[in-house]
Amino acid sequence: MLQQNFSQGAFRSVAYARMPDGQRMVAKRILRERSRLESNVRELEGDLRASLLAQKVAAAFNDPEARGSSISAGTVHYPAGSILIISEAQVLGGQAAHLVEPYLQRTSRWQKWINNDGSLATACGEPDVPEVLSAFCHFSLIHLAETEALPHMILDIQGLQPDTNSLYHLTDPAISTQDPNVSQYYGETNLGRSAMYNFLAHHQCGSTCISLGLDNNIRTARALDLTQAEVDHIEDLVAFE
Ligand SMILES: [Zn+2]
Repeated sequence: MLQQNFSQGAFRSVAYARMPDGQRMVAKRILRERSRLESNVRELEGDLRASLLAQKVAAAFNDPEARGSSISAGTVHYPAGSILIISEAQVLGGQAAHLVEPYLQRTSRWQKWINNDGSLATACGEPDVPEVLSAFCHFSLIHLAETEALPHMILDIQGLQPDTNSLYHLTDPAISTQDPNVSQYYGETNLGRSAMYNFLAHHQCGSTCISLGLDNNIRTARALDLTQAEVDHIEDLVAFE
């Protein structure tokens, strides 16, 4: 069922896979696997939780009614994944854990726009981070704080350049949180409050944020529990950009 590896990041290798019904998928596995299958499953569960939370936030971001706004904010999408245990003779114990997601036909270039430390990932000479994606990160902070009392933010924004419907297919989100009790709950890419603050320090609200009412320092300060000095610092940086 598993086919050749086609990509390898810092933490995961990715292979094509075909399901029994013929559906084409991608299967991600941990690069430095532990000997116990349960440990590998637990680590992939963190990735899956991050992806599920990102799906939920994306649904709210995409829905003008849910946002109480008639202005479309563009569209972002995260795939629905699941964890599969696959028999592999060469693996210790004979079984390997994979996070399996639908395969995306690559009709455009793969790109990372925002890193998991909150910094911008675009290289010199490349176009700026699309305003709608930066707004999605800001929205995730406010939305999760105000609707679910979760002190989290979605970062590590990466995926395909938008298709003709302006739809961004994104994958592999990182959930940063300032809650130390859940630091490993969403996997190892969580860099905590410093990443969230770093994003805000370089983020400038554009038309999408304004349409969503995110350009409000009080809401942002409450969501991340910012000090007055930090709010002033963010404003200073924005003013100089
Ligand atoms: Zn904003």
